[in-house]
Amino acid sequence: MSGGLWLIRLVLMSMLRSRVSLFFTLAFPFFLVLAFGYIFGRDRPEVLRFTSAQLFVTVVVANALFGLGNLLLELRRKGVLRRLYVTSLRPWAVLSAVLAAWLVLSTLTFGVMLGALEIVFHGGLVGRAPALWSLMLLCTGAMAGIAFLLASIVDRPEGLAMGANALFFPMLFLSGLSIPSFLLPEWIQRIGRVLPTHAMLELFRGVTENRPLGGLRIVYGITILLMGIAGFLGALAVYRWNPHQPLSRRQRVQLVAALALLIPLPWAGSSLGQSVGYVRRWLAPRYVLAVGHVMDGERVLPGSPVYIGVLEGRIAFVGTSVPEDWRGAPVRNFADLWATPGLIDMHVHLESPVVPVFDPTMDPDDRIRHDLVAGYTGSGVTALRSFGDVPAPLHEVRRLASAGLRPYPRLFLSGPIFTAPGGHPLELPAFRWMSPQQVARRVIQVTDPASAREAIRRLLPSRPDWIKIVYDSGHVDYRTFPRISPDTLKALIEEAHRAGLKVAVHISKVEELRDAVTLGADMIEHTPVDAVIDDDLLAEMRRRGTVVDPTLCVIENVMGRPSRRQTGREDAFILARLMKPLREALEQQQPFDPLDFVPERYRALAEKSMDAYAAQHTAIAQTNVRRMATAEIPLVAGSDAGNPGVYHGPGLICELEALARAGLPSLEALRAATALAGTVLGEPIGRIHPGFHADIALYAGDPTTDWTALRQIRWVVLSGRIYSVDDLLQ
Ligand SMILES: [Zn+2]
Repeated sequence: MSGGLWLIRLVLMSMLRSRVSLFFTLAFPFFLVLAFGYIFGRDRPEVLRFTSAQLFVTVVVANALFGLGNLLLELRRKGVLRRLYVTSLRPWAVLSAVLAAWLVLSTLTFGVMLGALEIVFHGGLVGRAPALWSLMLLCTGAMAGIAFLLASIVDRPEGLAMGANALFFPMLFLSGLSIPSFLLPEWIQRIGRVLPTHAMLELFRGVTENRPLGGLRIVYGITILLMGIAGFLGALAVYRWNPHQPLSRRQRVQLVAALALLIPLPWAGSSLGQSVGYVRRWLAPRYVLAVGHVMDGERVLPGSPVYIGVLEGRIAFVGTSVPEDWRGAPVRNFADLWATPGLIDMHVHLESPVVPVFDPTMDPDDRIRHDLVAGYTGSGVTALRSFGDVPAPLHEVRRLASAGLRPYPRLFLSGPIFTAPGGHPLELPAFRWMSPQQVARRVIQVTDPASAREAIRRLLPSRPDWIKIVYDSGHVDYRTFPRISPDTLKALIEEAHRAGLKVAVHISKVEELRDAVTLGADMIEHTPVDAVIDDDLLAEMRRRGTVVDPTLCVIENVMGRPSRRQTGREDAFILARLMKPLREALEQQQPFDPLDFVPERYRALAEKSMDAYAAQHTAIAQTNVRRMATAEIPLVAGSDAGNPGVYHGPGLICELEALARAGLPSLEALRAATALAGTVLGEPIGRIHPGFHADIALYAGDPTTDWTALRQIRWVVLSGRIYSVDDLLQ
């Protein structure tokens, strides 16, 4: 034992005495963090958190392969190991002692990196230091096994360098260490996922980005641990005290065995990790829901109760009796409740918190996760389409949602919004405090058809689900914005269609609607508020199958006076779904009222004209919705949540209420938020039908005749997992 301690001390001292070694273990990681932080992370903590995981893994891998491998080789070449041969130390004790010394040094390295991140960039990682530290120890240990194995096979530094490079560079470039993997082609991503660095990176990101990994954490952790053990055992098998000692036959056999164990391990772990979502669904018991009444997305099904079979997250059968082979499956009884398919919100802006709160301790990603779970899922909204958000963290949420690991609604993401330079939505206050780079990741400003096509092509690697274009010059009697030309609109639509993407175009006037429809928009956001849509245009829309998302709730809220509309301050349903700091801010804030800025003696006049303005535009929008419904234009429901008075989740209920106020029968409004929306999104969602995802909302009232029932939501089924709304709101 004392021999082991002596060796640890010897190794540590020789490392600390070597300037080269000190540079690589302390100075290099420090400057690496500084350089990368300044290039990528300045003023962008979310990017820094994303990048710092890459830096941690890169340093762990590089240090082990190049530093630790070399160290063992040197100990053997310089005869230190040979001298140990005469002591009572066994090979395992020697390797363990070298590893222990190495872990001490790695701890220093890691402290230096964490310190640099904290002091210089306020990385916000100090609270996560214990988790990061244990991960670093785990990964360093695993890589040490591989480095030992490599250093045990080769005898010369050149051989080691070659082997280390051959291992390091594929890991660096293919598994997302240097280039984020979502930017790489799919086939490279597939290779990258089976490299050990993939699992390490996922684990580190889980901590730096505070991302829930669920069962993946265990799968990846065990994979890395087993890799380290396999490497270590392999290194012991081929251990030699001096460089001239050839490998025996037995050692060769053991080496092959270790490699046979080591090489497929990360692949197996990664595949298991990928399928954890499926495994969970598979483990989820198949069961039958017995529901009082069911609106299946199209109509109210006859009979009561209605039985819905759920298997592996999908609906297996729907009917008034349970099929023979399902007898004996557990039954969840909701015989006093109504079921609709989970609602689908076609238009939201997840990045906007609705209630402006300036709280530096509030993580914007946490707020989004809260809105997804309590706001959307807690309101029975199980799928949504978000426009104009920075894609990276949302793509991750989308992956988790589709794996069924968290009660997140299914996400459809457009990525940035296309508009003219200085066009809508850049006039909104949220953009005023953003740097040009921050704006550029949310809004792409295009000047002409050529730049428009180029911009679409550049967006493709981030894998948007939709393209959103603003084609709106504002209101002549209110406020005007620059707008892209029809040629540019045409170029954007054509280029998106060429890439197989559908296009949603934001408009506010009839002429804009006409251009968008005739130039091939798949879908229209908002309703014209300037005039009534003429019959010719309606016929053209019907001929082309243009889908319209009227967003009446936001039109009523933004055109009207937010202080008098749905402010949420007195609405217990909304308050219960807001994150605590937002709820407190909303309760304390004086509601914004534009009339406060009008001198006293003009106030009455202003109020009258403002109300008249709002009433006039709302009335036109409502007329247009009625006309479109009569002309059988497919309408879908979108809240435009993120705007004043339109909350994440409850906003869709506001939209359904507004559609009903416009004259849409409530069953038709429900169709707009379920079956029709699912068809438009092209996914098996929005219907309670065999083969569709088991995404179901359960209410204490009848939402097909009574809108207040939508607020009596009790349970939400998402990918077949049942959540009580009380739990979702926690
Ligand atoms: Zn919008």
